[in-house]
Amino acid sequence: MRSPPSPLCATHSVIIKRGSDTFEIPDRLPVLPLRDVVAFPYVVMPLLIGRQASLNAAQVAWESHRFVLLIAQRDASTLEPKSRDVYRVGVVAHLQSVTQLPNGSTRILLEGLGAVSVSRVASHKGALVATLVEPREIVAPDAADEATARQMLQRFEEYASLTRRIPVEVVQFATGSDDLYRTSFLLAAHLNVRTPVRQRLLESPTLKDLLTGLNKVLAGELEMLALEKSIDDEVRGSIHRNQREFYLQEQLRVINRELGNDDGDDLSEVATAVETADLPEDVRTRADKELRKLRRMSPMSPEATVIRNYLDWILTLPWVTEKTLEVAPGTMDVAHTRDVLNADHHGLRDVKERILDHVAVLANVGKMDGPMLCLVGPPGVGKTSLGRSIARALGRKFVRMSLGGVHDEAEIRGHRRTYIGSMPGRILQGMRRAGSVNPVMLLDEIDKLGRDHRGDPGSALLEVLDPEQNKTFNDHYLELDYDLSQVFFITTANTLGGIPDALRDRLEIVRLPGYLETEKLAIAREFLLPRQCERAGIAMDSVKLDPDVLPKIIRYYTREAGVRDLERQLARLTRKIARRRAEAAEGAEPSDTILSTDLTAMLGVAPFDPDEDVRQDQVGVSTGLAYTSVGGEVLDIEVSVVPGRGRLQLTGALGDVMKESAGAALTYARSRADQLGLQRDFHKTRDIHIHIPDGATPKDGPSAGIAIATALISALTNVPVRASVAMTGEITLRGRVLPIGGLKEKAVAALRTARTDVIVPERNARELDELPIEVKNGIRFHPVSSMDQVLELALNRTGARSTSKRRDGRAARSADATPPTGKVLPVPTPPPSTH
Ligand code: ADP
Repeated sequence: MRSPPSPLCATHSVIIKRGSDTFEIPDRLPVLPLRDVVAFPYVVMPLLIGRQASLNAAQVAWESHRFVLLIAQRDASTLEPKSRDVYRVGVVAHLQSVTQLPNGSTRILLEGLGAVSVSRVASHKGALVATLVEPREIVAPDAADEATARQMLQRFEEYASLTRRIPVEVVQFATGSDDLYRTSFLLAAHLNVRTPVRQRLLESPTLKDLLTGLNKVLAGELEMLALEKSIDDEVRGSIHRNQREFYLQEQLRVINRELGNDDGDDLSEVATAVETADLPEDVRTRADKELRKLRRMSPMSPEATVIRNYLDWILTLPWVTEKTLEVAPGTMDVAHTRDVLNADHHGLRDVKERILDHVAVLANVGKMDGPMLCLVGPPGVGKTSLGRSIARALGRKFVRMSLGGVHDEAEIRGHRRTYIGSMPGRILQGMRRAGSVNPVMLLDEIDKLGRDHRGDPGSALLEVLDPEQNKTFNDHYLELDYDLSQVFFITTANTLGGIPDALRDRLEIVRLPGYLETEKLAIAREFLLPRQCERAGIAMDSVKLDPDVLPKIIRYYTREAGVRDLERQLARLTRKIARRRAEAAEGAEPSDTILSTDLTAMLGVAPFDPDEDVRQDQVGVSTGLAYTSVGGEVLDIEVSVVPGRGRLQLTGALGDVMKESAGAALTYARSRADQLGLQRDFHKTRDIHIHIPDGATPKDGPSAGIAIATALISALTNVPVRASVAMTGEITLRGRVLPIGGLKEKAVAALRTARTDVIVPERNARELDELPIEVKNGIRFHPVSSMDQVLELALNRTGARSTSKRRDGRAARSADATPPTGKVLPVPTPPPSTH
């Protein structure tokens, strides 16, 4: 060591107590400034010193009383600390050894004796000298201190076990010692905390403060350690998982390669597909984004499958492709469309005209504008095939989708991608099927749309059909705007009633009322039969049908407004013909012409007989006309009256409105009891049963009112109803007759079943002019305004006289079945009785 500085002049000494030891210390001591370390009493610590001030201090102490003052520097980076750079509380230490190391530095060993406050620190010849004040007071611990200490020790043990940096002996010593001061300082010395924190612990004025301070520091440290551990675990866990996945995938890849199913290039195939696809800008951006996501994923993960599906949809949906059918140039004109519609369909003049209006707009504007077409009519009247013809005429693809039973908005608009197995809604599925951006899309059965808690598919459909909105149709799955504005939408429905109101406002309704027999004949000859012959592989001109074969099939084998069953029967017929020919080729005798008598053998026993019902006038049986989802229909209304207590029974799948009509008819009968010659209290002494057969078909609506009243009064008065008369009209309680809808369809049904007279409400009379000529020629219409007029026309009072003697309440066929006025369409002669 070098020459010592001038001696430090201590004026008096300070007494320091440490447990049972007492030390007398001079009140001026050389200072050893500490960097990043705080010394504590009791703690023995080695230090490496190298700064001149430190070396000087150590030398002075070593050569005199061997006491130094250890004080922490406020800032560890200060190389030559001045008075203000060190704290004001330090620890007096005893210098136990000084060793020169070969590298030039000096190693000293110190033992902390006690903490002291310092009143002054001064520089003296290159070293710092401190003037000591009173040492810290040592107070015996109380019970609360003991409790805090226990908690502190528990925490310390936990801390030691988590950090694993504290020697076991320290923990053992700390937990085994009775001296709380000693234990606390030992703990403080071993905590891995920053200097200011340690310094604060050292400066604690009392034992209680020291213990509480330590406890707080330990609690904070434990929290930090727990957090570190959980982060660590997570990181470790994810590394493990990733490694595991990576390992498994590598194995899978090797296995696949061995098996020859190497799909390593799959991703690059998708990438190439995205790159080369003809996509609008925003779609491409989205596709690229998804592709990037896909690249980052393991190819086998479920998320990757979801993204692949999504990309697949983007790639297969038509975004820009226009037409996909080969069409001659200039086919977008009205004349061409008219030719095609006529070539495919008989009649339907009105409907074709309306379609041509739309096509004209399309040709001018280049896209659909205004309300969309809605074809309303019973099954089999050609709604779908009209759609197909339009597509053919315009050279566009045709897609049809049924919306019957769709309850969920998501079926139209798709499910969000978060759902497992989700996909776009039906509209976009249809677009994918079409493969072009401008197909003709037929939305079938919009009157059967449901609606429940899963949303309203009708409102989604509104958006689809609205030219203002459908340019940016938003499907939940796709999450990209899709342009539907070039699609030619056509909707269809069986009845108007089921179409949601909001939707009906946006549609141009075109009605197809059903076909007359002559129309069916023409359709069968010109379209259905040739088509079925072709399907059966026989030449049309080789098939010879007797002239009454087709009428017989229509009347006796079908009962429908459209021609679907008719087509089915003709398909059967042509198959039979094909078989006959095949058998003839094998030697059997061929018969060339098909006669109407052959039909039973070929098509089975005829299920219908239109003449049967009208052969007899009957008591309590009237003929109503209804308009149902399968078109105009004839309803037989039966009423039976038996002695009883006034019960009214209604059967035959009747809707509420029809039941109310029955109630109104009964009230009317009671109010007219005197005029009708009924007993005043008949409603109390008789049970009345009203039945409308064919119970499987639900029937509703008020238009059967007058027919129910007629059957009821007939049953009560025992006067038969004319079988040739059919009727339709709503009844009021006072017997007024109110107008009804669907007159044309009903009239067609009446003619189909060979009724000659139809009673209609006066207020419907205006519509009679518009009826097809065939109907006007075949049926006599009787407009009426009151129930009295109805009874006058419908009841056969002559028949009543002839049958009144009968006890069974049933009338035989009346001798005078001809209605009061007008000409009568001849009832078709029943076919020869071959069955
Ligand atoms: P809808 O869609 O109204 O139920 P479809 O279009 O399926 O009826 O018609 C049933 C069959 O009847 C089809 O084969 C169709 O070509 C044929 N058809 C219907 N009306 C006509 C018509 N006016 N002319 C020619 N064929 C018709």
